[in-house]
Amino acid sequence: MPYHHILVAVDLTEECDPVIHRARELSVSNGAKLSLVHIVEPMAMAFGGDVPMDLSQLQQQQFDQAKERLERLILKYPELSKEYSHLTYGQPRQEIHHLAKEQTCDLIVVGSHGRHGLALLLGSTANDVLHGAPCDVLAVRLQKS
Ligand code: AMP
Repeated sequence: MPYHHILVAVDLTEECDPVIHRARELSVSNGAKLSLVHIVEPMAMAFGGDVPMDLSQLQQQQFDQAKERLERLILKYPELSKEYSHLTYGQPRQEIHHLAKEQTCDLIVVGSHGRHGLALLLGSTANDVLHGAPCDVLAVRLQKS
């Protein structure tokens, strides 16, 4: 059964290129629609909850920067379009699952560093996304960082 709608999740670093390449290949070979998503994590979340200062301005800058990078990616890859690109605040696993369900995606593509030892204990987004995913998940192996 071919995939119909592929959701590629990107962290907007230079490492997202191999992840997009794989998702593009699959979208072409399956004749599937290709959607793109990036999640901006709220800064308070990254700092572990309560932060005794106003982060709203910094948060807005972070969001604007992400929007700009996402737009550059869309220009770089003709298979991607603004219409099927999503930028939201939240926790990556939760938001990616939510979007995959909402858009009835049947495959999520993420990058994976194949971590070992201590890094493995710290977890990875790929692992996180895999657990409780509403559809298939493909983890594209990235170079060790
Ligand atoms: P990480 O485990 O954080 O190194 O990320 C591995 C992969 O998870 C990345 O290559 C992306 O596919 C995905 N990912 C990580 N962070 C995000 C994010 N904020 N939004 C969307 N996808 C992400």
